Amino acid sequence: MRILHIGIEETQAPITGLDWLGEIITASSMPEAFHLKESGCSLFDLILISEEIWLDSPAEVILKLKRGILKEDGCIIAILENETSEKVEQLYRAGANDYLVKPLTESKLLFRLNRISSGKTELDREEELLKAIRQLEKTNERLKSLTDLDSLTGIFNRRYFHTYLSKKWDNPKTDHNRIFIMMADIDAFKAFNDTYGHVKGDQCLKQVAECMKELSQKLNGITARYGGEEFIVVIENHDEKKVVQLADEIRREVEKLKIPSESGEKPKVTISIGVAGGSMDGITAYKELIDEADQALYLAKDLGGNQVINEKTKTNA
Ligand code: GH3
Ligand code: MG
Ligand code: MG
Repeated sequence: MRILHIGIEETQAPITGLDWLGEIITASSMPEAFHLKESGCSLFDLILISEEIWLDSPAEVILKLKRGILKEDGCIIAILENETSEKVEQLYRAGANDYLVKPLTESKLLFRLNRISSGKTELDREEELLKAIRQLEKTNERLKSLTDLDSLTGIFNRRYFHTYLSKKWDNPKTDHNRIFIMMADIDAFKAFNDTYGHVKGDQCLKQVAECMKELSQKLNGITARYGGEEFIVVIENHDEKKVVQLADEIRREVEKLKIPSESGEKPKVTISIGVAGGSMDGITAYKELIDEADQALYLAKDLGGNQVINEKTKTNA
């Protein structure tokens, strides 16, 4: 085995004593290493290259060695003063076969050579670990998004809605200071459930949720299931008129779903909506907004349901 160690003299000292492995040649710089070839030296099986030589441009240095003085099936082990993930990543990208952290001992080098010959290097392990971490991060993201969603309807859940809205007050932005919410509730849903059963009731909830989510996107609204048959939409940076108009469009579209309901006074499933909001400066806490929308919703119910009430004007849309 022909081994070349490129590094300034003091970094070379610890690998003495490996002569029995084969011929060990040393060079203190890249030009010196390449000079060996020019003077008729044959290619190397293993090149150990100290940090001071490769640190500025590992990709260039490793490529040069591979093209110039390394055997085709030879390998390059980089030597590190200390281990950092940046350095390891750089080396991996640069195409080094492996790395070793100082102090460089005979046993470390032997272990490494053994691993390289068995096909698994530290860099492979590092890459496997990075892959596993990335996979874990993806899974975590997915899990996190699942905890934000309502399991029946797939829209955001109440917990997400509270977190989302409370953050608005924690970090208010002066240029994004208008906020509205729509609080919607299915009319006479208890009777619907009693007549058609919970399975049909669940289907109805899904249809209504889907319809609200789709339409609220027209104003970039966030739709959440607030409770059993209650839904909430948050809309930012739009004027009151548009929000109330959209709320009424949602109400009409739910009616148009024509979900049959012999149970209530109306032949189709309908919803009532309370709208509240305005400039965030005038609202001390997000719970105030919820209370106001709730009051408007109650009024809509009192007035017979299947309508939208604007909390500001206490009138129908
Ligand atoms: P109102 O018009 O005043 O809103 O009357 P309501 O009957 O809709 O309201 P109430 O609060 O009396 O009843 C709500 C019903 O919603 C009771 C419950 O059976 C039903 N419900 C709540 N969560 C679910 C659910 O996840 N699935 C089904 N199928 N029904 C649910
Ligand atoms: Mg209700
Ligand atoms: Mg209801």
